[in-house]
Amino acid sequence: MDAETESAVVLEPRPYRERDLLLTVLGEAHGVVRGILRGARGKRHARGAATAQILSLVTVSWFQRPTAELATFTAIELDCSSYPLAGSLERSATAAAVAELLLTFCPAGEPAPQHFRLARGLLDALLGSTPPETVLAYALVWILRLGGVFPDPDRCAACGSPPGERVLLAPGTGHPLCGACAPPGAASLGRDALRFLEASRTAPPSGPIPPPPRGLLHWLKRLARDEAHRPLRALDMVERLS
Ligand SMILES: [Zn+2]
Repeated sequence: MDAETESAVVLEPRPYRERDLLLTVLGEAHGVVRGILRGARGKRHARGAATAQILSLVTVSWFQRPTAELATFTAIELDCSSYPLAGSLERSATAAAVAELLLTFCPAGEPAPQHFRLARGLLDALLGSTPPETVLAYALVWILRLGGVFPDPDRCAACGSPPGERVLLAPGTGHPLCGACAPPGAASLGRDALRFLEASRTAPPSGPIPPPPRGLLHWLKRLARDEAHRPLRALDMVERLS
């Protein structure tokens, strides 16, 4: 059986048995791959565990038998470490939330090159000087967009017309509404929020993007929680820190 070798971003390294890691990565060509990295936590191979840090960029080799549920990783090399993020609780918590969102919304078992590029861009932004809340808002917008579940605020969810400068939000679903369709007292996304969404369409996460207003982040987190159908614990943790 031929081994695959590809660039990947680490999404979840979990201790497994006595000395192994149950590792989930997002590969450039194969999308989400889940498998065992044997001996990664043993004395001789401690480097394996140090390499497999959340959101680090690595090169992995692995094979998977057609009937097997898990792959077997045979090699892992570090290309860009997320280790510097450990110096900031906010940045490391944001990295964990980003990895959790990718793990939740990236379809397993199929190529996901856009998710891979997004993950790389988010790592670069977190290692650079982009504020963590900008990285988180960018990740939320794009992961929901790529998942086909982002209700774009260009269209009223009820009548389809463009809502204009002030987008109102349906109380139950949070979907965008125009002034004519929204009930009185509905929450809204202001001009700053729309500017962020517009900029995030074309700029990379480390690019020229205005800071996301609090109301926008709140709205995005709510959409993600509604769509996730599972608890988003790392996202909860970021929320407690802010
Ligand atoms: Zn409407």
